Amino acid sequence: MSDWQTWQRQGNFIGGAWVGAESGKTIDVTNPATGEVIGTVPACGTAETHRAIDAAASAFQTFSAMDLMSRVGLLWKLHDALMDNQAALAELLTIEMGKPLAEAMGEIAIGAQYVRWFAEEARRAKGEIVPAGVNGRRILVTKHPVGVVGMITPWNFPSSMLARKLAPALAVGCTVVAKPATATPYSGLAWAALAEEVGYPAGVINIVTGSARAIAGAMMARSEVRKVTFTGSTEVGKELIRASADTVKKVSMELGGNAPFIVFDDADLDAAVEGAIVSKYRNSGQTCVCANRIYAQAGVHDAFVAKLVERTRALKVGDGREAGVAQGPLIDASAVAKVEELLDDAKAKGAEVVLGGSRHQLGGTFFQPTVLTGATQDMAFAREEIFGPLAPVFRFETEEEVIAMANATEFGLASYVYTRDLGRAFRLNERLAYGMIGINSGLITTVEAPFGGVKESGLGKEGGSQGLEDYLDTKYVCIDGI
Ligand code: NAP
Repeated sequence: MSDWQTWQRQGNFIGGAWVGAESGKTIDVTNPATGEVIGTVPACGTAETHRAIDAAASAFQTFSAMDLMSRVGLLWKLHDALMDNQAALAELLTIEMGKPLAEAMGEIAIGAQYVRWFAEEARRAKGEIVPAGVNGRRILVTKHPVGVVGMITPWNFPSSMLARKLAPALAVGCTVVAKPATATPYSGLAWAALAEEVGYPAGVINIVTGSARAIAGAMMARSEVRKVTFTGSTEVGKELIRASADTVKKVSMELGGNAPFIVFDDADLDAAVEGAIVSKYRNSGQTCVCANRIYAQAGVHDAFVAKLVERTRALKVGDGREAGVAQGPLIDASAVAKVEELLDDAKAKGAEVVLGGSRHQLGGTFFQPTVLTGATQDMAFAREEIFGPLAPVFRFETEEEVIAMANATEFGLASYVYTRDLGRAFRLNERLAYGMIGINSGLITTVEAPFGGVKESGLGKEGGSQGLEDYLDTKYVCIDGI
């Protein structure tokens, strides 16, 4: 049994070696529950990223040519290493990020599932033989790894966001330069430690921490990096899409959300409340698929709010490592300030706080799970991601009206609908402009399905068979004169 320190690497992993920044500078990493510094990571930048890209480009020559079953075997070992060390990796995640231990255990487990899923999918990365229009000719369509992949990940799922990029990349023979979020670098670095332990060749996985601009700048500038996959804010995603033009890279973008959670009069109300709790308060409201706007139809509005308040009141707030805690701290002081700003704006425009509404007595970055009623489309959270434990409830009358309200955003990641009317479920699936729709479910992420958004929520998919396609180039071979 390992403990969390076993997996806390305070160096970067470049070309198979653990190294510091050339400048010798480091960045402190803190535990958001206690404010304590738990260690440091190198403050790397352009030079180190170029070295990592060189290592990845060189390793690509041999790794992409490795037998498929050898690559699959490495993924199986990586899966087992994750699960054998699940508790230690989860504790490390909770210490750097703050989420409750049970959620961190789940995050490590789903990361391992992505590894297993893509090990399986790689064996089905089939090409095609297409009927030619003329005799004597054959048309083959073949699949090839894109090459070196740059990966940039956020702090809210520091392990699993990397899992669903690393696993498909490694499965098809790509090599990797990854930059984890500065607030939560250890869960990302742990992937390199695990990969080293199970025997990945040097240079296949490189992890660099430090200046986001410098690291991303080097990734975007180098033509050897054929794809950049990013999970984070829409604002940064747009910058990266612009920067990708110079070397015409593939990009995958998992960006922000503004999920509507719609409860119709015919819904199973208890199921809707449970769905709202998991969708809204998982990770203290800091997920891209969190219910951001809860729409309750007039006939069930009051009953729904009463049940939601009762369930929310029962959520225990505290250090994620304590037993029974369901709500950890927010990631930092600016996240708390953002929730307060959104609350003040809503109150000034007539919303009513029916539960919570202020910082938690624990201090630091803890915030009370909060329920608001009387939310309207002119309040700031109707347009912006809340990223905190604030549940605004909007009242609506008709299906037509709620579809219009739900779609009135530039985002299009996840949406949720509670109804027992099959026809309505189909209509909503057709008319909600979202990449993912949970019908009677508040928790929809699963390895078998393509996770991803439409509109300004992103490009590309992670998970499912589509998640592998994103790491493959398609070639057409014409054989003539047969
Ligand atoms: P963020 O500020 O965009 O940061 C994400 C990553 O990008 C971090 O590694 C960050 O590095 C890096 N970064 C920051 N500025 C950059 C720049 N100018 N160029 C290149 N990289 C840069 O987002 P966040 O606040 O960490 O994460 C929350 C956001 O992620 C939310 O909008 C959420 O919805 C979204 N998200 C989306 C999904 C999805 O699947 N669609 C999943 C999870 C989260 P530093 O940490 O060093 O600043």
